[in-house]
Amino acid sequence: MSVSGKPPYDPGNIFARILRGEIPCKKVSEDEHALAFHDIAPQAPVHVLVIPKGPYVSAADFHAEAPAEAIAGFWRAVGRVARELGLEEHGYRLLSNMGEDAGQEVGHFHVHLFGGRRLGRMVPQTRE
Ligand code: 5GP
Repeated sequence: MSVSGKPPYDPGNIFARILRGEIPCKKVSEDEHALAFHDIAPQAPVHVLVIPKGPYVSAADFHAEAPAEAIAGFWRAVGRVARELGLEEHGYRLLSNMGEDAGQEVGHFHVHLFGGRRLGRMVPQTRE
């Protein structure tokens, strides 16, 4: 059981398969701690996913269980990717979904990196 209370990490999830090279992705960059690739269904002109290489289902799980070096390396990668994509001048948004209410689809911790236009309010004001 992960610390988030969600089910155990499923090594068959789609991002695990991308990490193993079983499914292709449009890679932005990769280092020992993180892989960044374009979202298959972009919600903004720039919509990149950054994922750690270890098996963590959520932010809570990742930050509780991963070695400090992996956590630092992951967040440094997020900042570097944003900079390399040219997003620092006009800004960008980071987002991470956890669980049903947030609509998390993939049970491998990931950060969405959005940019390239004005992104509007943080959370849509309509109820689904
Ligand atoms: P979540 O809802 O879990 O925070 O976000 C999962 C994201 O993964 C979604 O934005 C979805 O479009 C993206 N996604 C799902 N399957 C694939 C895939 O096979 N390749 C890529 N590049 N993105 C995917």
